[in-house]
Amino acid sequence: GEGQPKAPAPPASAPHPNPLPTEEWGEGTTPPVRTTCPYCGVGCGVLAAPDGNGGAIIKGDPDHPANAGRLCSKGSALGETLGLETRLLYPIVDGARTHWAPALDQVARRLQAIRAAHGPEAIAFYLSGQLLTEDYYIANKLAKGFIGTPHVDTNSRLCMSSSVAGHRRAFGADVVPQCYDDLELADLVVLAGSNAAWCHPILYQRIQTARGERGVRVVNIDPRRTATSEGADLQLSLEPGTDGVLWSGLLVALAERRLIDPGIIAAHTQGFFEALWGARRLAPTVSAVAAACGLETRDVALFYDWFAGTPRVVSCYSQGVNQSAQGTDKVNAIINCHLATGRIGRPGSGPLSLTGQPNAMGGREVGGLANMLAAHMGFTPAERDRVRRFWDAPNLVTGEGLKAVAMFEAIAAGRIKALWVMGTNPAVSLPRADDVRGALAKLELLIVSENVASNDTATQAHISLPAAAWGEKDGTVTNSERCISRQRAFLAPPGVASPDWWILSQVARRLGFGRAFSYRSPAEIFDEHARLSGFENGGSRAFDIAAAAGLSEAGYDTLQPFQWPWRAGKSGTARLFADGGFFTPDGKARFVSIAAPRLATSVSDAWPFLLNTGRIRDQWHTMTRTGLAPRLSTHIAEPFVEIHPDDAARLGLEQGALARVSTAHGSAILRVLVNRGQRPGLLFAPIHWSAENSSDARIGALVQPATDPYSGQPEAKATPARIEPLAVSHYGFALSRRRLVPAGLTYWAAARASFGHVLHFALDAPANGWPAWARAAMPEGDRISFADASARLYRAAVLRNGRLEALLLVGPTPKLPAPDWLKSQFDQLSIAPADRRMLLAARPIAPTIEEGPIVCVCFQVGAARIAAAAAAGHRTLETIGKALGAGTNCGSCVPEILRLIGPNRPACETVREPAHAPA
Ligand code: SF4
Repeated sequence: GEGQPKAPAPPASAPHPNPLPTEEWGEGTTPPVRTTCPYCGVGCGVLAAPDGNGGAIIKGDPDHPANAGRLCSKGSALGETLGLETRLLYPIVDGARTHWAPALDQVARRLQAIRAAHGPEAIAFYLSGQLLTEDYYIANKLAKGFIGTPHVDTNSRLCMSSSVAGHRRAFGADVVPQCYDDLELADLVVLAGSNAAWCHPILYQRIQTARGERGVRVVNIDPRRTATSEGADLQLSLEPGTDGVLWSGLLVALAERRLIDPGIIAAHTQGFFEALWGARRLAPTVSAVAAACGLETRDVALFYDWFAGTPRVVSCYSQGVNQSAQGTDKVNAIINCHLATGRIGRPGSGPLSLTGQPNAMGGREVGGLANMLAAHMGFTPAERDRVRRFWDAPNLVTGEGLKAVAMFEAIAAGRIKALWVMGTNPAVSLPRADDVRGALAKLELLIVSENVASNDTATQAHISLPAAAWGEKDGTVTNSERCISRQRAFLAPPGVASPDWWILSQVARRLGFGRAFSYRSPAEIFDEHARLSGFENGGSRAFDIAAAAGLSEAGYDTLQPFQWPWRAGKSGTARLFADGGFFTPDGKARFVSIAAPRLATSVSDAWPFLLNTGRIRDQWHTMTRTGLAPRLSTHIAEPFVEIHPDDAARLGLEQGALARVSTAHGSAILRVLVNRGQRPGLLFAPIHWSAENSSDARIGALVQPATDPYSGQPEAKATPARIEPLAVSHYGFALSRRRLVPAGLTYWAAARASFGHVLHFALDAPANGWPAWARAAMPEGDRISFADASARLYRAAVLRNGRLEALLLVGPTPKLPAPDWLKSQFDQLSIAPADRRMLLAARPIAPTIEEGPIVCVCFQVGAARIAAAAAAGHRTLETIGKALGAGTNCGSCVPEILRLIGPNRPACETVREPAHAPA
């Protein structure tokens, strides 16, 4: 009935051209389903075989074009993230659990009331690059065509909207001209603002394989040295914000060397001489570029030589370029160089935007951005009329809506009264996130469609709706190379969790739009989306998948990955623009003259550092999924700030101690990692921690809201900041089966472990003494403890029936005993009374090999063990792999292994836990 969620599609059982050998999966195992990874924009194919206990065995799909069977550490651990412990299973209205029918009635009634009282523009939708294309399509159609609000934006605004704007300025459409195979066909790969080794690991592995086999050169342009730098032939650690000068200088150098292609420029482009003139003003000589970018002249010259002398060059750009108040100009500065040389759309040659999220591209395709209408169409009268007729939409919007930062400012100002957040966590991820929390509190209606029962945004919701999660829903996603792949369900949704498209359609029916939202399956939605893409297109619009229209349910189930445009009667398209054919009115690409580079806000005496933000290798966004996989927290378990050794020494910041990092917008308490890969004057902090798993590490709260004028993307990489030591008398950690919540902590960060939970913390000595404090924090059981007042040490353990339940260590410095052996004691069924004192010594009587911070999460191999093996003569990846297994599965740890076994001292420190002192 209407009040019940539609049953999910059964696991796809349709035939595949390359059927999988079932014996690989074990006798009696349910056959695997072909789907795609829900994390990054690489869009790897995944094989998932339900294990019968709610989980799944996960492998890479050998037939998927993105990854050919490989998965990185995050993808490999997907099977560990499927538990129901944190899931939202039922609708909640005003704090009370309810059923679908009353919850959906409330959503519709309250939206209707706000629309009647304040107009449709008082309603906004904030969507996510995690949504499937079909979900995105329905949300956009409901808002822009039927409710009549243009305020639909997405967290992709924070991710790659500068690439969208740059593509549209240059090509007339949001088109990535290249495909992944070009990374293997190139002779030079330039990575700009991209820690691909950690953020697009499978593409990085493809590049490194080509580098090893064919000697492909890699240039890495990034203010900080990262794991990506380990596989680069040239590292350009430029000053933040100066990318535009570097690429303008390249355009000038190419013109001076007469390497531009006058034929292509004349036939297929406009604006070259204006752009070159502008570039000459910004970057007249190589030495001027070097001075402006803070680089050595010889390094800049080498980059220009390599680019000039290598016809097959792919330039990849990512958030380091996009997340900038001049992100769009930076994108166009890169594209200018490719257009000028005709190196675009050719095998092994062209610009390639690496998208952050799994379906940011799908969101772009349906119109999930506030400045797009639908199917890559904008808001011209002709486009609006076309979409209105196709949808038979009664309330089609007349223009663009508010982009993310402006949308939340409108909420704070009371102009937007109702917000529906789907699959994202703006209270953590948006700039000035503390203000975002304040804005959410002002809403008359906050609806949150979520997988999890609790996150920083959902805790403020008036209505929470349980959405089906990865593995439970069917649809499509588009990766960074325009490849559309199916995601397929292989688990039944728990509770009454339902697909987003179903939830939205049910609300649409209650709002009186039932006829336009009568979908019975995602296949029907995909069909409509495909037909709209081809509607009155005739080759005029890049996004066209009309060839995929008209699929039966079975045809949709067996749909193979394809690259758009896939026009009716034609094949899919691997590359575009090699012969012109741009989507501007005259079919010519546009060179863009870029503005003089500047940061949105400069450093000052009060804010002498620039705070850079980004991702780490093994976590995804706000950790609501990856945080559930214990092994993914063994690589980096705590929020941290990286700082150059000179800055750290000047400010008295020690490795592993705590620091308060502040900006004009907020502050955080973070573990100090002294890292020679940082530029002096720069700080780096990861974006993943939230109020759910840390005391003060919501980095979004520190980020400024300054945005790019074309894309609206915030400058998340360069917020003026200061850093100072945090004074606390004691540091500690707790290991426990159930999460401990000790009182009085100045700082804490929690992570999952195979046995339960790890809590790192710091505090001042409690007034009532350590024993009373520990007793209140720890579970009941047989308690043993050790105190040394002169050394300011306190340790306690609780056992039940001989089994270790919880353990807690406190000391005066961050140098605490290594936790490896202690963690292993949770696996013991019983610890003999005579051995229990070893728990308090934090080490066994017999010496063990120290593991150190985990580098290889697949085989749980630590840095200390790798370093010891290297010292014993294992100095190649191969021999390390044979000796320890490290690096032989997903390969995500290879850059760090290379760093540890290399002949030189590490170029970038990636030690992730405080240095451990002997117990
Ligand atoms: Fe998933 Fe890793 Fe592939 Fe990205 S590279 S899609 S996170 S497996």
